Amino acid sequence: MGRKLLLDKAHIEGIRYYDTYRKNGGYAAVEKAFKMSPADIVEEVKKSGLRGRGGAGFPTGLKWSFLAKPEGVPRYLVCNADESEPGTFKDRYLMEFIPHLLIEGLIISSYALGSHRTYIYIRGEYAWIVDILEQAIAEANQAGWLGKNILNSGFDCQIYVQRGAGAYICGEETALIESLEGKRGNPRIKPPFPAVKGLWDSPTVVNNVETLAAVVPIMNIGAEEYSKIGIGKSTGTKLISACGNLNKPGVYEIDMTISVEEFIFSDEYCGGIANGKRLKACIPGGSSVPILPANLLLKTAKGETRMMNYESLADGGFATGTMMGSGGFIVLDEDQCVVRHTFSLARFYRHESCGQCSPCREGTGWMEKILNNIENGKGKMSDIDLLWDIQRKIEGNTICPLGDAAAWPVAAAIRHFRDEFEWHVTHPDEAQIRNFGLAHY
Ligand code: NAD
Ligand code: SF4
Repeated sequence: MGRKLLLDKAHIEGIRYYDTYRKNGGYAAVEKAFKMSPADIVEEVKKSGLRGRGGAGFPTGLKWSFLAKPEGVPRYLVCNADESEPGTFKDRYLMEFIPHLLIEGLIISSYALGSHRTYIYIRGEYAWIVDILEQAIAEANQAGWLGKNILNSGFDCQIYVQRGAGAYICGEETALIESLEGKRGNPRIKPPFPAVKGLWDSPTVVNNVETLAAVVPIMNIGAEEYSKIGIGKSTGTKLISACGNLNKPGVYEIDMTISVEEFIFSDEYCGGIANGKRLKACIPGGSSVPILPANLLLKTAKGETRMMNYESLADGGFATGTMMGSGGFIVLDEDQCVVRHTFSLARFYRHESCGQCSPCREGTGWMEKILNNIENGKGKMSDIDLLWDIQRKIEGNTICPLGDAAAWPVAAAIRHFRDEFEWHVTHPDEAQIRNFGLAHY
């Protein structure tokens, strides 16, 4: 049984409410943190090895240490709760069931970074969670954990919740900042990074919900103990939202020392593939990361057991590996059609492109059209190479990572399932039949 640091209290009845949360040890981490200096907290987070849980895996303490501190200029902490990556729903779970864990993490992080006005930017579709968060913030205010002179420290802080309006791109940190400023959510060119010039041109840290919640156990158990959980540079625990053809889809907390095989097949986690089917493929880190066929998912190209952590999932690069990403673990059984799946993702990215850069604006549309043709029996063999060519021209040539995110799923699908694309072209009348049984997967 892996160690639980975030969801350990999720089963307690009433944990959503302040009194129960406090009775079960809640806000002890704030008490501990306020006895430390802000700089010491930043050091502690650095030592913990915590990496951004939104998808990029950037070291959190390092990001915090980049925050510029010019005299007389406010600094901001923004919590990215715009969880929109297909297959990802772990932040929703955390905010819905243990909102005070996030609020507690936000108070500590705001104190460490010197943010007096901290924002939670939440995707518009999570409307009911806005009410939950606002109630938790009101309770924290009432109990004196927010507001003026918190714990007689002289530090003032308030948290505000801002709803997005349903655009995936507003999860990209600079688009999020634009939206928070009341503008259209167009990503900005980086650098400058938000740590130097962010919200209203002030130094800003944007962190994911799970990242900020993880600051609480780091304070509670100490950075040293936290850094011993997990393996290598994958320290602490990670929330995984598992979906697709699984017996037990859901949100799991793992300590990153388990294998992919154990995660999919053991009863402690996903309980195997639904309906007795075989595993065909998986996208382990949300829709933006490369899909892997079962053989490369369970074992790396070197024949080593593939583990559920940043390094092992990425082993082999994009030729034979993938990424941990946001932890949106999407499983496909033997009856699923990779072409159809890739078409569905291409449609999503075309719809969500903000349109600022031509490779992304035009390329996502072309990929969708070609994939639609192949999926619906109107494709040509040359279309597969054309698709490959288009995705190559998008990757690395855009302002924000949405371009790469649109290109990588197409590249990986062609790389690993080219025969399936060819089969669609050579069997136009049957192309829409989804149960393309691939004996060799
Ligand atoms: P990124 O690698 O560009 O940046 C990571 C973070 O580090 C950013 O906050 C950035 O500001 C900071 N950073 C990097 N270099 C820095 C420097 N030199 N100085 C100061 N700060 C620096 O990645 P990203 O755009 O934040 O995230 C991309 C990832 O997001 C994708 O890989 C995908 O997995 C994930 N994603 C997640 C969701 C979701 O719903 N959770 C949705 C879409 C994409
Ligand atoms: Fe907009 Fe796409 Fe360019 Fe990102 S890559 S800025 S989403 S057009």
